[in-house]
Amino acid sequence: MRAYDIIKNKRDAKENTREEIEFMIKGYLENLIPDYQVSSWLMAIFFHHLSEEESYNLTDVMLKSGDIIDLSKITGKKIDKHSTGGVGDKTTIAIAPMVASLGVKIAKLSGRSLGHTGGTIDKLESIPGFKTSLTTQEFFEIANNVGIVVSGQTGNIAPADKKLYSLRDSTATVEELSLIASSIMSKKLAITSDGILLDIKVGSGAFMKNIEDAKELGRIMLKIAERYNKNTIALITNMDQPLGENVGNALEVMEAIDTIKGKGPKDFSELCLEISSHMASLSGIITYEEAKKKLIENIENGIVKEKMKEWIKAQGGKEEVVDDPSKYLNIAPKTLEFKAKEQGYITVIDTEKIGLASMVLGAGRQKKEDTIDKSVGLTINKKLGDKVEVGETIAKLFISEKSDVDASLKLLNEAYNISKERPKNINKNVIFDVLFSDEKS
Ligand code: URA
Repeated sequence: MRAYDIIKNKRDAKENTREEIEFMIKGYLENLIPDYQVSSWLMAIFFHHLSEEESYNLTDVMLKSGDIIDLSKITGKKIDKHSTGGVGDKTTIAIAPMVASLGVKIAKLSGRSLGHTGGTIDKLESIPGFKTSLTTQEFFEIANNVGIVVSGQTGNIAPADKKLYSLRDSTATVEELSLIASSIMSKKLAITSDGILLDIKVGSGAFMKNIEDAKELGRIMLKIAERYNKNTIALITNMDQPLGENVGNALEVMEAIDTIKGKGPKDFSELCLEISSHMASLSGIITYEEAKKKLIENIENGIVKEKMKEWIKAQGGKEEVVDDPSKYLNIAPKTLEFKAKEQGYITVIDTEKIGLASMVLGAGRQKKEDTIDKSVGLTINKKLGDKVEVGETIAKLFISEKSDVDASLKLLNEAYNISKERPKNINKNVIFDVLFSDEKS
């Protein structure tokens, strides 16, 4: 077999066989096939896409290139979740105790912030004492005893995807939907959960900029999941403005805590309730409707709050943070307000720029090696469609000496579009669509 012929087949819009895909991926991982040949192959895929069979084969080869995290040592149903990333997305922190309050287990590996998006692990580490680096034994013990464990990425999951993604990043081939689907699913399927909830974000703060692409990505991922008999649901959710009102690590933890006590922002609370209900339904223990009803009750009667305390304590964190977040979270005392210079309505928010405005304050990383400040970030006072008067606060900046305040204010200024006319067509829906596998739809 020759890489040349495999590239030529794809260039001529022919399907690559399992053996061809395996030859390319294994050869690349073992440095037997050079970057330039894999790059040409990726570009041919970009133009001709991968068929359902090819997407499955690519996923399977990539997932088998590394470790498989076997969750079978955890009793009960384990449901995983993946978000394609957004701004103010602190969902895992709130949904974990919600879903666990229904007897469904969450044993999850999460990532750190990069670029305009935050990372669950950084956010959790803003809780005093919270340990995100766990031994395998601790991971399984906490999952079994408490029903929730969230740890940083461990082991060597899908190394082929890691190498291929880095090449895609420098060859303008990241955006191909079939490659994105295989990349995400190779990592998710390497963890043997009983079901996966995919939160595909769409809008100005998301990787996917339009709903049709987001749905197509969801459909490809569901097809791949079907091949593994993995119960999966994809939600297409709104990222045309930041989620909730807080962006930044400690600030987002505070908002997640407020939310599980029933005092969170409306959009974020709705998203958490939807995601948790669908995750619980994936377990087969409870229906979506029953889960939703029970979750509302469990928030009201404090069961979710107690679950969150139990989880935080089990991972070494100060559980009292749940009773009094402002006392135990380190939130920058120095603040500054970004105010409206003109009167009107917020018609557009470039959400990616809001994420970057928080990043330059120190809340996120431009490069993997950067250090971050968990105490800084933004509170978003005005969202899409809101009216603003001259001098009214649009956002509040929580800053430190190291924050690049000028850069942040410039980004915020660019991010908000204010118009005299009241906007008519803003879609403020939190969920745009719910996609199920074929058998269930
Ligand atoms: N996230 C991933 O993990 N892979 C992609 O290809 C794109 C986004």
